[in-house]
Amino acid sequence: MISRAKTLLKKIFGYADFRPLQENIISNVLLKKDTLVIMPTGAGKSLCYQIPALIFDGLTIVVSPLISLMNDQVEQLRAWGISAVYLNSSLPKKEYQSTKVRIRRGEVKLLYMAPETLLMPGILTFLQHLTVSCITIDEAHCISEWGHEFRPEYRQLIEIRRQFPKAVCIALTATATPRVQQDIKTSLGFESDNSFIASFNRENLFLQIIPKTDPYFQIIDFLKKYPDQSGIIYCFSRRQVDDLSADLASDGVSVLPYHAGLDDTIRKNNQEAFIRDNVRIIVATIAFGMGINKPNVRFVIHHDLPKNIESYYQQIGRAGRDGLRAHCLLLFSYGDLQKINYFIRQMSGQEKRAAKQQLNALVKFAESRTCRRQRLLSYFGETVSFQKCGMCDNCLGPGKPLEDITAQAQMFLSCVKRTGESFGAGHIIDILRGSECKKVKRFGHDRLSTYGVGEDYSKKAWQHYSRQFIALDLLNQDSEHLTLQLTDKAWQVLKNREPVMGAHIPVAADYSKFNSAEPDYDPELFDILRKKRKELADDADVPPYVIFPDRTLMQMASFYPCTKEALGRIHGVGRVKMESYGSIFIYLINRYCDKKNIPLNRTFQQSEREMRPSRKMRRFFIVGEAYNNGESIAALMERYRVKKTTIIQHLYRYLQSGGMVSINGLIDHSSLNPSDRQRVLEAFHSLGTERLGPVYDALDGEISFDELHLLRIVYLADAMNTVESE
Ligand code: ADP
Ligand code: ZN
Repeated sequence: MISRAKTLLKKIFGYADFRPLQENIISNVLLKKDTLVIMPTGAGKSLCYQIPALIFDGLTIVVSPLISLMNDQVEQLRAWGISAVYLNSSLPKKEYQSTKVRIRRGEVKLLYMAPETLLMPGILTFLQHLTVSCITIDEAHCISEWGHEFRPEYRQLIEIRRQFPKAVCIALTATATPRVQQDIKTSLGFESDNSFIASFNRENLFLQIIPKTDPYFQIIDFLKKYPDQSGIIYCFSRRQVDDLSADLASDGVSVLPYHAGLDDTIRKNNQEAFIRDNVRIIVATIAFGMGINKPNVRFVIHHDLPKNIESYYQQIGRAGRDGLRAHCLLLFSYGDLQKINYFIRQMSGQEKRAAKQQLNALVKFAESRTCRRQRLLSYFGETVSFQKCGMCDNCLGPGKPLEDITAQAQMFLSCVKRTGESFGAGHIIDILRGSECKKVKRFGHDRLSTYGVGEDYSKKAWQHYSRQFIALDLLNQDSEHLTLQLTDKAWQVLKNREPVMGAHIPVAADYSKFNSAEPDYDPELFDILRKKRKELADDADVPPYVIFPDRTLMQMASFYPCTKEALGRIHGVGRVKMESYGSIFIYLINRYCDKKNIPLNRTFQQSEREMRPSRKMRRFFIVGEAYNNGESIAALMERYRVKKTTIIQHLYRYLQSGGMVSINGLIDHSSLNPSDRQRVLEAFHSLGTERLGPVYDALDGEISFDELHLLRIVYLADAMNTVESE
């Protein structure tokens, strides 16, 4: 049966291989064993029940808590030619009824439902008369009170399990704590232990954390690296969201805000605009993201510090769901830390303790100098075999050799010691710099031996040093009061046993270190295909990625598939998409290749590398040379089996790329009389040769485009010859 699954993967979805665990999970479900799936966002959970749904005879019910996500899934499935429907309260009554009729007739493979729909009167009775093969519980952590999104309606799910004892159950979630896992299994009555837990390592995300110095400038600078890409910028408060999005918009960035304080329709529209690629960037509070399935988010910026590692992971998880590289940048500042502390102070008891601990862990993570991915994964209980991931700022290194900052460390640490380890960095710096401020005097710290010993360095320099001391584990910082305490390692430094290595001045953040470039593709063709995709998506009223994901377009723009056969081998082109869109894209690719003289007879081979087009093979060059060597246009037409206009276009490209063309034989190909010819040349003179449209119009459409193409070469070649001879 798994071979059937593999055929469907290719035929319906257009994917060549299963992702890790998908195959095992699908086999397990097909054997009718209840299955718990824990995979990070974007890992490909949906296929794990969608493919079995196509293989099973009966209906697959999918319980999903978010109406927006449900819509999205159903739209995608329909674009793949799969009969999927949903029943929820947003459906108009008439449609609700007709959907039920279709389900009853057995015309539907997948039925999506909100959990509260299950509670509606009559729904269980309605389901009773159906053959249900599989029950899928999406976002299964909602069933657990230990999860962070408990939903009481989920408790009802055990009812449909009882009603369909023969149906296999598959529960999916991206939340992984062992306690929640156990809870899901118990609540759903899973007997055997069939859990599949995928790694939380999102290899395609580049992780970077830099000190927040001038956030607006830093963000503008960052955005320059991604001029056409989609991304999310997370801010702490609604006001910051409004301010930042207004500022960016006034600087010409395509951006919209999103937060819970916005009017419902505005919020919905902004989200929709983002999903549909009408706007490039969304500036948002954490309210944004649930139910967003947009695969081509290329960056996530944290303008402010998140509350804990869990939310950081969840938010960066919205980037790169398509598996292509994405950049995650966090701007770290101690000021933000204080803002979060302020909220924690309002809490009490266990909640407060947990929040503090979580915040501390995040700060440690942000300040660390070792591989970020390793720290992140071990936080989630995953053991990793690597020391360096190569996809985080720390792994890529500081780019500059480290310098000896032992002397500065000793001054700072001994000052911390002498003041009883009960002050923050600001006060220590004041003492070191010999400040006359009241606080220093009040504590008598102007009488310490370290008073004024560090006055050669600026306040900024000391702040930079102190951050490094924390990062190097010489100091512990209390996350609430920000007071500093010495670690064992600090004592080693004070006793002169260990040197301290660091940087005297902050190294400017280097966004370019991370190479976001995906395998070589032709950006010009990609752009053409992307525009067409947008048009088709708008016509069909779906988000662009429902037509084709970016990766599909990139492959098209790198392999130039010019036939149905070749297109069928591209990632993400299944049977129905081929029928709906195949010929449109083949036409565009052919036209492009023709215009650019890219050889068409390339066949798709196994290795993508081998498939890279050889851009050196430029036919225009060969044609231009042959023409100059005396071959006639007629002979060239014969040799390449192309029309005269094609040869003329080759010659034009040849000219443009710096070649010279003799005009003697060319004029003979024009059928115009000398005075008309003169009119054309004058029009080129006043309107330029870049675009023929305006020239055609200026001549009242009396001269054909073929003539214009030809005379443009005459005009240009003549101009060049004149320059040469002067
Ligand atoms: P999740 O539900 O785990 O967050 P999805 O099921 O939405 O993730 O899958 C994320 C993306 O990966 C989707 O665009 C999906 O079509 C794609 N995908 C899933 N499985 C494969 C596969 N085997 N090969 C290629 N792409 C896949
Ligand atoms: Zn790393």
